[in-house]
Amino acid sequence: SAGDARRVDVLVVGGGQAGLAAGYHLHRLARDAARGRGGTAPSVAILDAAEAPGGSWRHYWDSLALFSPAETSSLPGWRMPAWPGPGTPSADHVVAYLTEYERRYELPVHRPVTVLEVADAPDGGFAVRTDRGDWHARAVISATGTWSRPFRPHLPGVGEFAGRLLHTVDYRRAEDFTGQRVLVVGGGNSGAQIAADLTRTARSLVWATRRPPRWMPDDVDGAALFRAATARVRSLAGGPEAEGVGALGDIVVLPPVRRARDAGLLEARPMPERLTADGAVWADGTHEPLDAVVWCTGFRPALGHLRPLGLTRHGDVPATADAPPTASADRPGLFLLGYGDWCGPASATLVGVGGPARATVAAATEHLRAAT
Ligand code: FAD
Repeated sequence: SAGDARRVDVLVVGGGQAGLAAGYHLHRLARDAARGRGGTAPSVAILDAAEAPGGSWRHYWDSLALFSPAETSSLPGWRMPAWPGPGTPSADHVVAYLTEYERRYELPVHRPVTVLEVADAPDGGFAVRTDRGDWHARAVISATGTWSRPFRPHLPGVGEFAGRLLHTVDYRRAEDFTGQRVLVVGGGNSGAQIAADLTRTARSLVWATRRPPRWMPDDVDGAALFRAATARVRSLAGGPEAEGVGALGDIVVLPPVRRARDAGLLEARPMPERLTADGAVWADGTHEPLDAVVWCTGFRPALGHLRPLGLTRHGDVPATADAPPTASADRPGLFLLGYGDWCGPASATLVGVGGPARATVAAATEHLRAAT
């Protein structure tokens, strides 16, 4: 019952990089309070559905390398340790970093705990139902990411196809496709990287994209993307004109992608018209036999737990305020952190989530003060 609910001032839902960045700024409030500065700090809990730290980085494929070097892939407060290998860090390196980050700041992460529903509580706070008991919070920061909601567009004939159908979330290593005929769908980074990976092992590889691939200049990395996204937001707010990340292209040209592209192995074709039992058919009548199709067609924000709040939608996502861009436009005390540019420029990146996390914690603290 609600009477048994554990009570906390700020509840963070999700313990990936975004939830931890919020946790860091909440930890700073507690540290300041312990030093006699800034009054009492809010009580905090971070609920994470996963068995272990690392967020979605635990699930990425083996050959994945970061867009940018360790120095420009850090959360607030503590730098990512240097990467000893060649190129940019692996996903495992990020998992180790996030694991240590949690420990370093003694972040109050509870796992595995899946939040099922966030609803209005009678006292103006939030009633939070999980698979391991109820919570009551005065403010909620939702940071559940997108990994648990893979998106796959409809393609006629999908039901007839007898081969393997996978999404980015299912892909682990190219060796699982040795000697096979594979179609990779999607012109973003996941599609380009997985297609490049598969050129090492597949018997044949077809890469289908809705529009011709837009390669970024070879020297663009995560830091450059962050700068572009930030400049775009300043420009929308009345600053100097800037076009943002989209103007740079869609695909970061990491070394394995560059090698495959320059060897002529990544010639994109248009989308097939439909799948058949044993392959795919294109508008020009060509038929390609296939053993597997890998959909690298992106994700949607994982927001099912917020359904009871009946939030107003702005297109595909909940409406948010201008400042901070993470604040729900209709529910005071609710914040949406880390999902994408719609709730903070580059907020879905390690280096980009710190700013929106700081602004969110400041606004949540202000909400607690106003509600007292
Ligand atoms: P996640 O990392 O997905 O963490 C969300 C956490 O919330 C998970 O632990 C999940 O279990 C938990 N959760 C979900 N639902 C619930 C619930 N209902 N209750 C409780 N817990 C829940 N970014 C970079 O900065 N640099 C890169 O080089 C880079 N490369 C990338 C490559 C790929 C292939 C992909 C897919 C992304 C890449 N990104 C990169 C982006 C970055 O990895 C993600 O955007 C980032 O992990 C999102 O962090 P998050 O904390 O919002 O979500």
